[in-house]
Amino acid sequence: MAIPETPQEQVQHLSKKLRQSIQSRKQIEDDYLRDSQRYSNFVNDLCLALNGVDSELDGLLHKLRGHLQQNASAAVLEPMMQQVGEVISQHTVRMQTLLKETNESIQLALQSIKPRDSSGRSQLQKIANEFEQPTMTVSHYLPLVNQLLALSYQQQGTQTETQVAQYQSQLLDLLSEVEFLGNAADTLQQVKVALQKPQTNETLLAITLKVMRLVFNNINDERRSAQLFLQQLNASLESVQSVLGKTISHSADFADQRLHLNQQLKSGVSEIKACVTDAYELNDLKESVGLQLHRLGETLNQHLKLHDEERQSFHSNTQAMEQKLRETEEQVLHYKQELAKQKFRSLQDNLTKLPNRSAFDERLNLEFQRWVNDETPLSIAIIDVDHFKNINDSFGHIAGDKTLQVIAGTLSKSLRESAFVCRYGGEEFAIIFCSDGQSAYQHIENTREKVANIPFKFKTDDIRITISAGIAEFKYNEDTPLAVFERADKALYEAKNSGRNKVITAK
Ligand code: GH3
Ligand code: MG
Ligand code: MG
Repeated sequence: MAIPETPQEQVQHLSKKLRQSIQSRKQIEDDYLRDSQRYSNFVNDLCLALNGVDSELDGLLHKLRGHLQQNASAAVLEPMMQQVGEVISQHTVRMQTLLKETNESIQLALQSIKPRDSSGRSQLQKIANEFEQPTMTVSHYLPLVNQLLALSYQQQGTQTETQVAQYQSQLLDLLSEVEFLGNAADTLQQVKVALQKPQTNETLLAITLKVMRLVFNNINDERRSAQLFLQQLNASLESVQSVLGKTISHSADFADQRLHLNQQLKSGVSEIKACVTDAYELNDLKESVGLQLHRLGETLNQHLKLHDEERQSFHSNTQAMEQKLRETEEQVLHYKQELAKQKFRSLQDNLTKLPNRSAFDERLNLEFQRWVNDETPLSIAIIDVDHFKNINDSFGHIAGDKTLQVIAGTLSKSLRESAFVCRYGGEEFAIIFCSDGQSAYQHIENTREKVANIPFKFKTDDIRITISAGIAEFKYNEDTPLAVFERADKALYEAKNSGRNKVITAK
C-alpha cells in the first residue's frame, strides 16, 4: 500500500484504520457475549445435573443459577463454583461414613444369626469377612445382603423363645441407629413399635423382611439417582464438547493462550468422561467428578478473563488510534491556518498593508467573470504619484516610504466602500470599481482632491503631493482584463502629459 503523504491522505488512511478497528472490536464483543452465554448455559446444565444429590448443594445451585440468569461476573461466580465443589466432596465423605456405619450394624446382625450346619457357618464367615473389607461399597453391599437373607431363611423354625427375644432386642438396637426419610421413616417407626412387643418366630421373620426391603429400596433409590446423575452429566458434557468445538480464535495475539485454554478445557472434559465411563462406584465418581468440575470451572474463568483482557487490549488500541487521529486532525488544522496566513501575506503589500498586484490580478479575474456572465458594470483606475522621484531625491527614501503610506491610507479611506484598492507597484495604485466609468471617475476625482489637500511636512518644508489617474470601463465584447488595463494606462499617460494632478477616462 502506498504511504500517505499529505495530511488529508493521512487522515483518510487513519479514518479507514479506525473504522476497521471499531468493526473488529464489535466482532470481539459479539463473540464475547455469545461465548459467555454458552458457558453460562453449560454451568446451568451442570447445576441441573447435580440437582437432588444433596440438599445443601441444591440450595447453592439454586443461588448459582440465579446469578447466571442475571449475567453475574466471573468474580461473583468463581467463589460459588468453589463452594459447590466443596459441598460435593463433603457429600461424598458423608456417604462413606453412612456406609461405614451400616457395615458396623450388619456386623452386629451377623452375630445373631446361628447357622445349623458347617457349610452355613463357613458361608456366614465369608459374608462377615466381606463386610469387614474397608472398601465396602453399595454394589458389594446388595449381593451380600441377599446372601444374608438366604441364611436367615435357613434359620427359620430353629430358634427358641429366648433366642427370638434376644434377636428382637438386638434388631431394635440396630434400628435405633438407622435413620430414613419420608415414607421409609414411617415404616421404620411401625417396625420399631412392633419390635417392642413380644413376637413369634414367624412375625419376627416378617419384620426382618420388612427391614430388609427398606434397606433395598434405599439402595435402589440411590442407584436410580446415580443413573440419572450420570445421564444428565453426560448430556452436559456433550454440550461442553460442542461449545468447545465452536470456539474460534479471532485475534492472533491471543490465539495461543486461547488454544492452550481450549486444550485444558477439552482435557478436563475428557477426564470427566473417562471418570463416568470407568467409575463403577457412585462415591468414587462423585468425588472425582467434583474435582474435575472444580478444575473445569477454573479453566472457564481463565477463559472469561482472557476474553476480558482481549477486549481491554482492543479498547486501548482503538483509543490510541483515536488519539492519533485527533492529533493529526489538529496538525491538519494548524497547517491549514498557516497556509491561509501565508496566502494572506503573499496577497498583501508589506509597506502600505494594501492588497498587492497578485491580489489585484486575482480579484480582477473574478470580477471579469462576473462581468462576462452577469453583464454587471466594471471599471478600473490606475493612479500614479506625480514627480515622486523628487520626494526621494529631496528628502530621502524613508520620507518617500512614509509618503506612500499616507497616500495609500487616504486612497483606502476614500475608496474602500465603493472599490477594491491595491498597491500595483512602486508609486502606482490600481483600483477596481463594480460600477461604470462615470461613477469611477467621480470617486477618483474626489480622492485626487483629498490627496492634493494633504499638508505634507518634510523637515521645515510644507509640501503638496498630487496624483494622476487613468480610468477605463469594461464595455466592448472583446474586452479582457489586459486590454482594459492598457486603456486605463494610456489614459493615465494622457493625464500626465496634460499637466498631471488630473483624472482621465479612456474612450
Ligand atoms: P511622474 O510624475 O512622471 O510619474 O514622475 P515620477 O518621478 O513619479 O516617475 P518615475 O517613474 O520617474 O519615478 C518613480 C520613483 O518612485 C522611482 C522610484 O525610486 C520611486 N519608488 C518606487 N517605489 C518606491 C518605494 O517603495 N519607496 C520609495 N521611497 N520610492 C519608490
Ligand atoms: Mg510611476
Ligand atoms: Mg510617478
